Amino acid sequence: MEKAKAFVKSSLDDPEGFWAEQAKLIDWQDPPKQIFDGSHPPFSRWYTGGTTNLSYNAVDRHARKTPDAPALIYVSSETGADTTYSFSQLQDEVERTAALLKSLDVGKGDTVLIYLPMIPEAAFAMLACTRIGAIHSVVFGGFASRALADRIEDLEPSVLIAADAGMRGGKVINYQTLLKGALGVSRHTPDHVVMVDRGLASDDSIDGAIDFHSARDALEDAAADVEWMESNEPSYVLYTSGTTGKPKGVQRDTGGYAVALAASIRYIYDGRPGETFFATSDIGWVVGHSYIVYGPLLAGMASIFYEGTPVHPDPGIWWSLVEKYKPSVMFSAPTAMRLLATKDHDFIDRNDISSLRRMWLAGEPLDEPTARWSTQALGRPVYDHFWQTETGWPIISALPGVEDHELKWGSPSFPVYGYDVALIHEETGRLVGANEKGLLTVKWPLPPGTMTTLWRDDDRFKSTYFAEFDDGLYYQTFDFAVQDEDGYITLLGRSDDVINVAGHRLGTREIESAICGHDAIAEAAVVGVEDKVKGQTPVAFAVPADANAATHGLEAQIKTLVDKQLGAIARPSRIVLVPSLPKTRSGKILRRALQALCEGRDPGDLPTIEDASVIDQIRGALA
Ligand code: AMP
Repeated sequence: MEKAKAFVKSSLDDPEGFWAEQAKLIDWQDPPKQIFDGSHPPFSRWYTGGTTNLSYNAVDRHARKTPDAPALIYVSSETGADTTYSFSQLQDEVERTAALLKSLDVGKGDTVLIYLPMIPEAAFAMLACTRIGAIHSVVFGGFASRALADRIEDLEPSVLIAADAGMRGGKVINYQTLLKGALGVSRHTPDHVVMVDRGLASDDSIDGAIDFHSARDALEDAAADVEWMESNEPSYVLYTSGTTGKPKGVQRDTGGYAVALAASIRYIYDGRPGETFFATSDIGWVVGHSYIVYGPLLAGMASIFYEGTPVHPDPGIWWSLVEKYKPSVMFSAPTAMRLLATKDHDFIDRNDISSLRRMWLAGEPLDEPTARWSTQALGRPVYDHFWQTETGWPIISALPGVEDHELKWGSPSFPVYGYDVALIHEETGRLVGANEKGLLTVKWPLPPGTMTTLWRDDDRFKSTYFAEFDDGLYYQTFDFAVQDEDGYITLLGRSDDVINVAGHRLGTREIESAICGHDAIAEAAVVGVEDKVKGQTPVAFAVPADANAATHGLEAQIKTLVDKQLGAIARPSRIVLVPSLPKTRSGKILRRALQALCEGRDPGDLPTIEDASVIDQIRGALA
């Protein structure tokens, strides 16, 4: 463990020296003039004056050296598609998509919203944007009209790229209907909508939409040169949930992100050029950005781009892909492993998974039984690691690419190089001791590749994420954690109202405001309640506007409303109608008490509660 510890220490003792060394992992058009500029805290500028391009580093430079090596391995267990693009074929697709965007007047600094399922055009579109300096924002296909409209309004894209439909577990999800709904309510209208027609859905087609494939084919020979970007110029915006109803547009830079991802593939995931990376997430999430599209390609690895679920057509599907495409690194979420653990073990054993060196899990706590089951079922090390949309790459992890060391169940191991992690007492603001619960924070500055600001909202970035303590400025993760005497960190859940359903982060306020959109509902509170497979599931408490009105069918109507506005992932598993919500005297909803009651725990003393009898009413409603 000494080597890994020394590596981390060197990154904190001499950050500029450390990150100057890592900058060599990518190609620069102009080398950086300064490694770090911290003249305007809490903003961090890495590699200032350097010019580079994310897409060039991910695609073109490998297309020159290893044109025929596999780059993108597209497999859909939904449609049966199975196509491998070499680096040179990928470059061709990216260039043509970039030419299509340019033909629509998209240039440097313009925004493009991508609302696509896991089809290769999604990767082409992302890489095409970064190739020409346009800023992409991918919205997860599981989000429905209101959620999509909120993001369209905030980003104000000039072009929106969507598909007719996605598929999940054999079921067609008509994206056109959702998009139509979003465009109908959004205050912003993109100049152009480009549609990828998969031939899956014809209802609700978008008037005036440009057909992706015919437009692209018409531009066969059009050039779309790489736009050299100053390292700090934005590459993309990715929306994530916060404590308010308004999603936060996490903004990423160019050079710092490229370096951080290339370094993480080497030191954390231990992936090597020419090998294959299999991350089972979706491009709508940060894992999809960092470890399906950009990270593996930057490192010269092939990436498996998979559309489908872990169990369709059967639970052997992922493992048959491991046998066929021989990934050395796999990345998934605990929830998927919990689902697989309910199935017969043989579906793994009957495939040859000998290529796989390690399995990585993130997105939610990895409970010990699931960690044990996965380790035993796969017969190789399973790593928990912790990070967030905001950081873009891991904060707490083992570093097997530097040195293998012992893992402890329930812990994602240690703070990663570049992050000066501190656990701070929630009330006193002092550093906590070993085995004492504290807020997980990172002393400013954050390393390269992390969020640079919130889209068009520097003030919200500052006020949401940074707090001053005695000895300086700290970034808040909004997670509680403890560190044991050996330095291993264990996560203890969020400190805010964000919940985690099947590894997906949802803001309870967004669900609450969707529910309150129902005329018969006056007020609502949503909490995350423990769930065996999904980790957490949303449970909603709703107060009818008219206490005497009939409530028959109201629960079902509310569920449908949430589905329509936010998407099925946000649908509460239960709606509990109650006469009032437990609140403090200052009017704050006591969500943790509601959560405790749902999980059959004692809510404890509630000294600030306005009306203690409400707790009994809730107990009664839950019984
Ligand atoms: P997201 O930004 O959607 O990736 O969600 C990030 C949040 O997921 C973190 O702030 C944590 O609350 C949770 N999370 C991610 N990885 C882990 C992990 N390995 N253990 C516990 N919680 C995690």
